Amino acid sequence: MMNERRHTVTLIPGDGIGPEVAAAAVRILSATGVGIEWQTEVAGACAVGEHGSPLPPRVLESVRRNKVALKGPTETPVGTGHRSVNVALRKELDLYANLRPLRTLPGVKSRYEDVDIVVVRENTEDLYSGLEHVVVPGVVESLKIITERASTRIARFAFDYARAHGRERISAVHKANIMKLSDGLFLDCCRKVAKEHPEVRYDEIIVDNACMQLVLDPTRFDVLLLENLYGDIVSDLCAGFVGGLGLAPGANIGEECAVFEAVHGSAPDIAGQDRANPLATLLSTAMLLRLSLAEHAAAAALEAAVATVLDAGYRTPDIMQPGGREVGCGAMGARVRDALGGAA
Ligand code: ATP
Repeated sequence: MMNERRHTVTLIPGDGIGPEVAAAAVRILSATGVGIEWQTEVAGACAVGEHGSPLPPRVLESVRRNKVALKGPTETPVGTGHRSVNVALRKELDLYANLRPLRTLPGVKSRYEDVDIVVVRENTEDLYSGLEHVVVPGVVESLKIITERASTRIARFAFDYARAHGRERISAVHKANIMKLSDGLFLDCCRKVAKEHPEVRYDEIIVDNACMQLVLDPTRFDVLLLENLYGDIVSDLCAGFVGGLGLAPGANIGEECAVFEAVHGSAPDIAGQDRANPLATLLSTAMLLRLSLAEHAAAAALEAAVATVLDAGYRTPDIMQPGGREVGCGAMGARVRDALGGAA
């Protein structure tokens, strides 16, 4: 049954497997009963030919207007070519918090059980500032920018999130033993914010040790608070604990707008083959429903439908396991839609 409220959401299908997983999300959303008008915008490598830019101004205008977007992955050339659309979007819209919950899903076999980690990653500075130059031939410099403002803001976000979502512990991940000034400043800011929140346990761990401890036993961690680069690497590591990138959702959140997007990239190796796993995008869509549209019942129903389908053994090739029933991207989406219909 369609509910009364209507929402307008920007849809950026993106490159590679993006259009396939975005189409699955749009089809499934119509079964939640939430009224959404999608405004489709083209960004990524696919936009360069038609618009002369991977991030045409109208994309930013649309997200600013609607305040919320669902985005597929966009391709970034390695080494040369255009700058990352994601980095540009995050900076232009000041989407300072990257939120990536990594949770064990029912029936998905991985090396660990009961993983439930939330990665909170600073999204606007660090080595992603793009300040690189050649000092002399054979020597380059990349500038790592860490500011008190951005570090304090992301720490506040992590503590507010922990309090609002019943999380008990935040671990700040750093390398302040080597980068004493930059990571040292990040830690100072985290400590100050931690003092304002005595109800949440706070500790610190050096990034290399954090990786080892995570691999030994990821269930010991709760919320991880990281700078931009460590956050990117550690969230892929954590995605591996719960079955891989096909199951890892994410959100980029600012004061004004939010862009929801799975952790994975454009996966050019499987694009157009109906092999992509749409579940990471569907779980990102559930985050969108909950965090931006306050459609809590629909978000819970969508997550439950994903769990039902996994429990029934349906698997895209990336998460296939013995006894699983292999399906493609389209069929996986259809199974989730059916489960949602049954739950409604
Ligand atoms: P990019 O530069 O856009 O991040 P990439 O190839 O470096 O692209 P991913 O696109 O994330 O990184 O792909 C890493 C691996 O994970 C690839 O083998 C890809 O096929 C696989 N993969 C990523 N996302 C999915 C998905 N949704 N379903 C199935 N496999 C996926």
